[in-house]
Amino acid sequence: MRCLLSKKIIASLCVSLLLLISFISIIPKNSYAYSQNTNEKIIYLTFDDGPSKKVTEDVLDILQAYKVKATFFVVGEQFKGNESVLKRIHNEGHSLGLHSYTHNFSKLYNGNIVNQEFFIGEMLECQKELKEITGVESTILRFPGGSHKRLSDSLLDELNKHNLKVYDWTHSSEDAVNLKSPPCKLFKNSLKKIPSCKKAPGAILLMHCNGSNKNSVKALPLIIEHYQKEGYKFLTITPNTPVYHCE
Ligand SMILES: [Zn+2]
Repeated sequence: MRCLLSKKIIASLCVSLLLLISFISIIPKNSYAYSQNTNEKIIYLTFDDGPSKKVTEDVLDILQAYKVKATFFVVGEQFKGNESVLKRIHNEGHSLGLHSYTHNFSKLYNGNIVNQEFFIGEMLECQKELKEITGVESTILRFPGGSHKRLSDSLLDELNKHNLKVYDWTHSSEDAVNLKSPPCKLFKNSLKKIPSCKKAPGAILLMHCNGSNKNSVKALPLIIEHYQKEGYKFLTITPNTPVYHCE
């Protein structure tokens, strides 16, 4: 009887040992790096349509108070008179991206067909002036209205030739859809991922900072506090950020 019992104990110990060995073998060897790469919560705050005196500067004040960095896709036509705002964006560690020179949809697009030469010309003009003011040669860009249905293979080839990289968004505050939307609505919008958006380098939140986006300024602290509480890391888009086109 005793012999039978000890055989049972040895057998169960063997099974436990085998289970332990097989469990260890399925843990990735670099489990720390693995979780860092796949599970890290990252958000890119992005502000389009600036620079503007009051609103962009208010946004910068809030970012400074919360010690977070963001990306500004700026419009060339608005540089004159706002040079100090552009310099401040750069000096405070934020990223600067191109958002065309005129933001004029009827010149940039013919329906959804992009006037390629004109489009690239506007981006390069924006890039040139931005460099003259800040010393930064930006190669990241966002299409006015987004690249969805507008980014053809031939345009992508042309953009690649100029080393320009395209970034859309995965989340939208919808602050440009209705300028009268209250800050709490913009905040709620900012938490929803756009369902059609596939794998991105993180949450990319679309906001705006031209002179009329006053409610975006009021919503921003709520948005930052929420994502900070959720453990998100705030990063800027740089040429090293994987490109992101929303399908
Ligand atoms: Zn825009």
